[in-house]
Amino acid sequence: MNRYDYIICGAGLAGVSSARILAEKGAKILILEKLSHVGGSVYDLLDDSGILVHKYGPHIFHTNNKKVFNFLSRFTKWNKYSHKVEAKFPECNVPVPFNLKSIEKVYGAEKAEDLLNFVKKEFGTDTVSVMSLVESKTPELSALGKFVYDNIFLYYTVKQWGKKPSEVDPKTTSRVPVRFSYDDRYFTDEYQGLPLESYTTMIKAMLSHENITVKTGIDALKRVKLENGKIYFDGEQTEAKVIYTGETDRLFGYCFGRLPYRTLDFKFETYKKDSFQPVATVNYTVSEDFTRITEFKKLTLQKKDGITTVMKEYPRRYEGKDGEIPYYPVETDESRKMYGEYVKLASDYPTLILVGRLAEYKYYNMDAVVARTLELFE
Ligand code: UDP
Repeated sequence: MNRYDYIICGAGLAGVSSARILAEKGAKILILEKLSHVGGSVYDLLDDSGILVHKYGPHIFHTNNKKVFNFLSRFTKWNKYSHKVEAKFPECNVPVPFNLKSIEKVYGAEKAEDLLNFVKKEFGTDTVSVMSLVESKTPELSALGKFVYDNIFLYYTVKQWGKKPSEVDPKTTSRVPVRFSYDDRYFTDEYQGLPLESYTTMIKAMLSHENITVKTGIDALKRVKLENGKIYFDGEQTEAKVIYTGETDRLFGYCFGRLPYRTLDFKFETYKKDSFQPVATVNYTVSEDFTRITEFKKLTLQKKDGITTVMKEYPRRYEGKDGEIPYYPVETDESRKMYGEYVKLASDYPTLILVGRLAEYKYYNMDAVVARTLELFE
């Protein structure tokens, strides 16, 4: 073990990005990954029909952070895909985020202009969260807010989080604001796209460094133990720093209780046709028990005629059963407080570093994870 300066638990984006930055500084790295593959939830692969699919849900890279973009661009080219989403209404689909095109579809062009003027006057911006619209002083805007709340957010959020939009962390719903412009891209960031070949290829390129050793199929917590401020690896005290990217409550044996997460069940379906739906993702905001359907070819821009694969997402409470994967931290005052207790415990271990969506218990996007590793290790 003395051969390694860092032991990294988890080969997802957080672990791999940390590994690469540190390896380039000359540190010797050992990564232990529980799953049989690297990449964590950005892992993608060809399915039986030769379609590239995202095994753990659709991932669309987007950022305004040039440093993050430049860093990842050393390991992949990008396909320049710009994400488009529509919500499935009974009569038609409307673009999401709800924008002037959606407003025109629902209310007509004249009304859209009036609403734009109202919003500029009250908010001085063209991007407003649904909750702010609902609470608007302008009756026309609060009526629009109520419409969007009821038809875009309510049922989707109940399926996704088991709670109403008014009950979830406001940061969550404001990820998808109402936009008073004709820009119907899901993300407005300067840089967006998917790795030209695949996420897995990008991850493997990041890991391809003489100072990095990767071992898959190994549950790090069976080998790494924390006790009285000291870290042990295979029973021996280690001086190596430990970067932990898994669930922090699990690291400490759930001693303060279980942090709440949401998990997802995925259903893949392959159809013998060129195209399944008009855009890459269709959100089911008023019907069905899945939240959304994503058609992979439309994200990856893979050319393959006569066949297409889609994925339906069914969210539910994470219970920590074998094989279940926690995808989303459920941030509430109570869960943040519990997480804080774990962080206090972690501070007894000066060589332990918690990084990533799970370990930091934050609803990070991919770019935020990489930004965090650059900030910590560069
Ligand atoms: N949301 C919604 N309806 C939509 C899209 C989003 O209610 O059509 C809400 C929902 O609560 C969701 C949150 O906005 O969890 C954030 O959406 P985002 O697309 O960012 O979720 P992710 O892709 O991270 O699952």
